[in-house]
Amino acid sequence: MDKHQVLKQYFGYDSFREGQEALIDSLLSGRDTLGIMPTGAGKSVCFQIPALMMEGMTLVISPLISLMKDQVEALNQAGVHAAYLNSSLTSGQYRKALELAGQGRYKLIYVAPERLVTEEFLRFACNAHISMVAVDEAHCVSQWGQDFRPSYLKIPEFMEKLSRRPVLAAFTATATREVQEDIVRLLRLERPTVLTTGFDRPNLYFAVQSPKDKYAAMKSYLDLHPGESGIIYCLTRKTVEEVCVKLRSEGISATRYHAGLTDGERKENQEDFIYDRNPVMVATNAFGMGIDKSNVRYVIHYNMPKNMESYYQEAGRAGRDGEPAECILLYGGQDVITNQFFIDHNQDNQELNDADRVVVQERDRERLRQMTFYCFTNECLRDYILRYFGEYTSNYCGNCSNCLSQFETVDVTEIAHNILGCVKSSRQRYGVTVILDTVHGANTAKIRNYRMNENPHYATLSKVPAYKLRQVMNQLQLLGYLVVTTDDYAIVKLTGKSEAVLDGSESVVMKMAKESERPEKAARDKKAKGKNRRQSMAADFHAKEFTDMEEKLFEQLRILRKEIAREEGVPPYIVFSDKTLVHLCIRKPKTKEELLEVSGIGAFKAEKYGGRFLECIGKNLC
Ligand code: ADP
Ligand code: ZN
Repeated sequence: MDKHQVLKQYFGYDSFREGQEALIDSLLSGRDTLGIMPTGAGKSVCFQIPALMMEGMTLVISPLISLMKDQVEALNQAGVHAAYLNSSLTSGQYRKALELAGQGRYKLIYVAPERLVTEEFLRFACNAHISMVAVDEAHCVSQWGQDFRPSYLKIPEFMEKLSRRPVLAAFTATATREVQEDIVRLLRLERPTVLTTGFDRPNLYFAVQSPKDKYAAMKSYLDLHPGESGIIYCLTRKTVEEVCVKLRSEGISATRYHAGLTDGERKENQEDFIYDRNPVMVATNAFGMGIDKSNVRYVIHYNMPKNMESYYQEAGRAGRDGEPAECILLYGGQDVITNQFFIDHNQDNQELNDADRVVVQERDRERLRQMTFYCFTNECLRDYILRYFGEYTSNYCGNCSNCLSQFETVDVTEIAHNILGCVKSSRQRYGVTVILDTVHGANTAKIRNYRMNENPHYATLSKVPAYKLRQVMNQLQLLGYLVVTTDDYAIVKLTGKSEAVLDGSESVVMKMAKESERPEKAARDKKAKGKNRRQSMAADFHAKEFTDMEEKLFEQLRILRKEIAREEGVPPYIVFSDKTLVHLCIRKPKTKEELLEVSGIGAFKAEKYGGRFLECIGKNLC
């Protein structure tokens, strides 16, 4: 079988995605390979297909038990013999698995890095025919990465102990250069093919909202998307608890995850989510690494996370099946303060000396600033994200809240002039709030104490709404006309550029949402979206929307999928992805042959479940 046939036979797909073919070819030609692809791009197939085509077996090194379990289950469901070796097995099970592996039973063996250089495993490995070692989540080898795992450093040591060196493959979704260089150096990749695919995830819709009532905003979103699977990220355990309790009391099947729960409860809640028993997960950032659930339809950030890296990683857990999914960030001013607090009190890394710590904190503050700007930019959100990761694209994506809402360019020179003037005349001693309160003409004790009511700019902008003043203030920072210091007090300071606005030689324009249209249009959009998500999935395939009958069929297929998942003891998305169900509704196959034309249905699955799905479709057609 060639690689296309393997893709079709086992995974049920007709064509490769960007980058996959080149990575597979490189490995098949025997070259070490580093693949850098965003989450959901389809990295696994890049080593699984060569593994199936090479002689002997492939070892896959993976940092997390849940990740291994998921992939091994998916492979077994596709008819591939695979197993994992990690601490979730009893020593009896472990020995048995090693024995079967020694007999050449498995094409792929997933192993935890700390096992590699144990005596028992080495004895096995030295006698086995290992043609490839694939390192998943390879950034774990780097201290620069977010998930440094010292046991990853054992990989080169292990490789050296083997009599014949297998091809080495490494995969990561981390885009930064330091990490990439570390991977090549520390894993000792030999003259590797390095391939980076774009970081864009076109199926993800991005939005930022600053609602007065975050809970209400989130709840109305959930009400519009009943039954869909989603993650709600909060900054603190306390918020997770509050949100989860409240959602449950209102009848939403939510569960929760954070570091304060026992191991047992975390595991149980995670499984409830993965098996779609509780489709809504409320969690801190402790949740997610190794979650391969492909049918997460939305990720809501109830709080702004600490940096863009975290945001894109967490938001990227939506829509791994390539179907439309939404990433919504609910911004509130308090989020900045909470993150600032975390940075100031971060003692996570005990190995840092004081000087290093200062450098790290400064870096973290800068990252937080970039994250905050994301919440205020009026430019395309996708463009902002990709630019942050060093990619330049067009500045209009048409699939983010900024691109979709209607903007107009407004001249804000006069407002800018007054804000800058106020900063200057008060000798750059105050923070954002004092400055804005002054120009807005607030009559508070603080303003009187600072005697800002005597400032020449006091109340000069009393007619401009406060939110608009804040937007301009942010825009001035974004454009570099002002900076806010990040030492003990956040003080607004002028920059080298400020004078040009003050002396009238430069004007300031910014895009602002058109006011008159705002509320209605937002409501209309929201409504349309709730109803149309599946429609747009459908439209993706055939440029047509679901009929009512197809809509019903989809629900029936979803029920059948869940039933089969329960029998098999695997998560529903491992049986078939959402995309495959949508495709089934549109194609309505009547025979096994037609079934094989559906995306995501390979020969093995067609044989195993085909009959029941055909029957379900037949029943719902008449
Ligand atoms: P990653 O590890 O890069 O985050 P996965 O390997 O989990 O991503 O793949 C994400 C999803 O994309 C999976 O559901 C997988 O089956 C699917 N997929 C992978 N390759 C293809 C392809 N060529 N065509 C269609 N779907 C694919
Ligand atoms: Zn956009």
